[in-house]
Amino acid sequence: MGLSRRAVLIVLALGAAVLATATGCGGAPGKEGKKMPRVVLVIHGGAGVLKEEEMHGEKLEDGKPLQREHYEAALAEALSAGHRVLREGRSSVEAVEAAVRVMEDSPLFNAGRGAALNHDGRAELDAAIMEGRMDVAPGERREGKKDPRKRAGAVAAVTHVKNPISAARAVMEMADHRHVLLVGPGAEAYVLSEEVADRYKIEKVSNAYFWTNRRLRQIRESIAKDPSRDRLRGDRERVPGETDRYFGTVGAVALDARGNLTAGTSTGGLTNKMAGRVGDSPCLGAGTYADNRACGVSCTGTGEVFLRHAVAHDVVARMLYKKVSVETASQETIEELPDEDEGVGGLIALDKDGHHTFAMSTKSVGMYRGYVTEDGAIYVAIYAKEAPHRMKPPARP
Ligand code: ASP
Repeated sequence: MGLSRRAVLIVLALGAAVLATATGCGGAPGKEGKKMPRVVLVIHGGAGVLKEEEMHGEKLEDGKPLQREHYEAALAEALSAGHRVLREGRSSVEAVEAAVRVMEDSPLFNAGRGAALNHDGRAELDAAIMEGRMDVAPGERREGKKDPRKRAGAVAAVTHVKNPISAARAVMEMADHRHVLLVGPGAEAYVLSEEVADRYKIEKVSNAYFWTNRRLRQIRESIAKDPSRDRLRGDRERVPGETDRYFGTVGAVALDARGNLTAGTSTGGLTNKMAGRVGDSPCLGAGTYADNRACGVSCTGTGEVFLRHAVAHDVVARMLYKKVSVETASQETIEELPDEDEGVGGLIALDKDGHHTFAMSTKSVGMYRGYVTEDGAIYVAIYAKEAPHRMKPPARP
């Protein structure tokens, strides 16, 4: 590792330490030696952060100029939705689903409504959810599987599902835990079937629901920039300064009152990806993973790199095998990834004691991110160098 790269990593690590004290994350002693409230939910809205000058040129769907406050408000709303669920004593699965659904419904992120479009101009969405618990709850019957304990579900390349995170949950909770990952028309046939759709509030939408002005412009520009690139190749290189086209995936990790962790991730994938391309987000161990003995993880970045390096599971494995903290495991995992011009991405992680961390590759401009403590204090941040700042809880709709 070169000196400058090492220096940046040290700065990031120091930043994390400062951040931990400043925000009192994870029950660390505060100034007066008091225990600070635990973090119960951490979220991200992707590592494809627009630089401030780029944000000025962008417009919302209603034509109004896009501002950082819009991202902060959307993050705060997602955190508040997830926190409400936890405060009611419900599970971390429900909290992750609630937080991710808010971000899927926002056109700002590359998931659900704001999904990036593929080379054919269509949205193909991926999502996964995974529980960290290893035990069987009292009274619960788990039959027909050799390992009935760890539950997870995922969907990939779905084109008519408004909230893929709920579809992933429906697969996870399928009778007998028969399958873990369903793709394309088969996934849609199952999750949009009347009983499942009603139970999980899964709405069928036309693919045009995902064609926001911003994503249509991005896909047109992306194809126009290199018309020689045929439809089977898609974008191989990212356009410098435009990571927003690529990394806007959303994710959440929650810890409930029973001590159970859940991680979830939802994405439209990469702009101008080939039809049928699936990234890391719905692949357990790559973009999403949870294990109560260590932590829950949700990633954002170049999916192919995260797949090849099994990033989310790598964080968990480092904690289990090396007995290091969630911060160290996350930093080491990201540090060992190959880098790209604008960074390869980042991840969020939350451990069983409520310690959270945000890890970003060295050249990343930032990552839309935030967390909420058990007493409801909401913090958000966007750029790499800034520490999360406290937000007023949004008014309930
Ligand atoms: N990781 C996602 C993918 O490759 C992209 C993102 O993070 O926005 O599909």
